[in-house]
Amino acid sequence: MTAKVIDGKARAATIRESVKAAVAAIKAGHGFEPGLAVVLVGEDPASQVYVSSKVRQTEECGMRSIEHRLPADTPEAELLALVRSLNEDPFVDGILVQMPLPSHIDSDAVVLAIDPAKDVDGLHPENAGRIVLGKSGLVPCTPQGCIILTKDALGDDLSGMNAVVLGRSILVGKPVALLLQNENCTVTMAHSRTRDIPALCRQADILVAAVGRPAMVKGDWIKPGATVIDVGINRVAAPEKGEGKTKLVGDVAYAEATDVAGAITPVPGGVGPMTIACLLANTVRAACRIRGIEEPAL
Ligand code: NAP
Repeated sequence: MTAKVIDGKARAATIRESVKAAVAAIKAGHGFEPGLAVVLVGEDPASQVYVSSKVRQTEECGMRSIEHRLPADTPEAELLALVRSLNEDPFVDGILVQMPLPSHIDSDAVVLAIDPAKDVDGLHPENAGRIVLGKSGLVPCTPQGCIILTKDALGDDLSGMNAVVLGRSILVGKPVALLLQNENCTVTMAHSRTRDIPALCRQADILVAAVGRPAMVKGDWIKPGATVIDVGINRVAAPEKGEGKTKLVGDVAYAEATDVAGAITPVPGGVGPMTIACLLANTVRAACRIRGIEEPAL
């Protein structure tokens, strides 16, 4: 079997087009544009790249982008005061504080300070709790992307399917598992203490890998025909490209997996591009909910 490749890059582009159309309709019908505020503390190079992409894509969709770049030694109290002022700002519908924060800042306190209605990253305990309760809230972006790609491969009804999620982080594994359960899947969450992970994986109609271990999931761990969602982004040496060169790989041994799986997300170009697209969609949702206007289907 050669797996169907689930093209996250193309899917993210369709979401961005829907967001752009929704923003144009909101401007025409309600006279405002949704606004996303992004806060970056410090000069972490990867975070700078992420923030620049978020700002550019926000503007490309016709939304208002508000950017705050603060020095690495910004006191926690100053960051909290900024978050509170963004909570009050009527031009701001979504607030994203780029993680990781410098070690002198308590990131839990910062997330807790964000108004849950503007928490477009879906990290506030209120939004996390809504997923646990199966109620609608702002769903974290990468997990949301995983569900969209899974449904693209399998259709909207995932009822009764066996899903195995490798990884139980707050950011990815846990919310993905809960979202799959809300879709009526039978979910097993595996982690570093789980016994015989290969045998568990072989039961999975849907296998989500979010462990951060390059090519950990082998071809013979995969049930023939399964849908494999590879969240991992790992930079590894690529001597074949030249001395000192590197490349990105997922948590799944891709070449082996494509011989067995029914559908699979590549790395790069799978789950990765979905994250910012879902962030933009969340900002439009937040803007509509805050103002009590009808939410577009995104
Ligand atoms: P994380 O916080 O480090 O969590 C990793 C999880 O994997 C933990 O629950 C850990 O178990 C489990 N784990 C580690 N080694 C394992 C092993 N050998 N067997 C079984 N389970 C194991 O990582 P994360 O933030 O969830 O990210 C996971 C991956 O997704 C990373 O590669 C990251 O770069 C990528 N990622 C991609 C996106 C995107 O596409 N936009 C977004 C976020 C993350 P314990 O809980 O027992 O320690």
